Amino acid sequence: MAENTSISNNSGIVEFNHHLVTDQETRMSGSGGSNSGGTSIGNPTASVGTVSVLLPSGGGTKRRSAVGSNSSHNGGSASNSASISADLASLFECPVCFDYVLPPILQCQSGHLVCSTCRPKLNCCPTCRGPLGNIRNLAMEKVASTVMFPCKYSSSGCPVSLLHSEKVEHEELCECRPYTCPCPGASCKWQGGLEQVMEHLMVAHKSITTLQGEDIVFLATDINLPGAVDWVMMQSCFGHHFMLVLEKQEKYEGHQQFFAIVQLIGSRKQCENFAYRLELNGHRRRLAWEATPRSIHEGVSTAILNSDCLVFDTSTAQLFADNGNLGINVTISTNV
Ligand SMILES: [Zn+2]
Ligand SMILES: [Zn+2]
Ligand SMILES: [Zn+2]
Ligand SMILES: [Zn+2]
Repeated sequence: MAENTSISNNSGIVEFNHHLVTDQETRMSGSGGSNSGGTSIGNPTASVGTVSVLLPSGGGTKRRSAVGSNSSHNGGSASNSASISADLASLFECPVCFDYVLPPILQCQSGHLVCSTCRPKLNCCPTCRGPLGNIRNLAMEKVASTVMFPCKYSSSGCPVSLLHSEKVEHEELCECRPYTCPCPGASCKWQGGLEQVMEHLMVAHKSITTLQGEDIVFLATDINLPGAVDWVMMQSCFGHHFMLVLEKQEKYEGHQQFFAIVQLIGSRKQCENFAYRLELNGHRRRLAWEATPRSIHEGVSTAILNSDCLVFDTSTAQLFADNGNLGINVTISTNV
């Protein structure tokens, strides 16, 4: 019954624009109440299981001012200035959390600093117990803007030091930042190294099916289930594991959309070696999307928010569905 449709171009590839301008609705639907009905081959993510937390970014053990090991890649005078910078950076260490005190910098009446995260939780200066006023230290702020601070993940092996204004951006991209669980929805709080991700998935998300091969069909069952639903499965090929995600969301009241995307269990760098293609095939119709897989380090939520993935609405889904089941052809290819 799909013959009778509003898509005019019904004999070839349906052109589609993937950039929807959306409001900044945060992706709160997640999978909170969404997993209710899913029984499928592409399983809705039941984020069951226990959460093992492993967080190498803990405070107390860090040595921010360690110079020797990092300076070897610099030349002579550069390593000298690096060591001065590291000494300076240590002056900005918060006595409570060992993170850096960055502008705007406030001090106690005796001149001790505490970071802006810890400050609201304190009644007095952690160093001298004197009152914490609202005294700004402009000189320290000026110095702070010239100091090279080590990356937050230096204790996990990152050798990079940068100006505080560049620090947050780098840390978001830093390869030493721990990986989080790649399952959609925010319910699993696991974090760990890249090499531990597959083990985590096999232990904590046993219900996710894996198919072998570069060309497979991701069959999402019961796509008419109400509410926000995620379907997830794994594909293994080229010695790598890919996670296929189909997410149904209601971004606007009464308007549900599907978002399909592939992420690599790997780094952003590794993603550059691959491309994926998603294709829906129906009666004299085809809808396709090709892109580079996302790294799980980056996650898929931003891509979904920006519609940087295969997007279609429920009526399009009906054109391709068979008995409420939607088959998505997934092809992974390599560029190298
Ligand atoms: Zn602090
Ligand atoms: Zn003080
Ligand atoms: Zn880093
Ligand atoms: Zn998980």
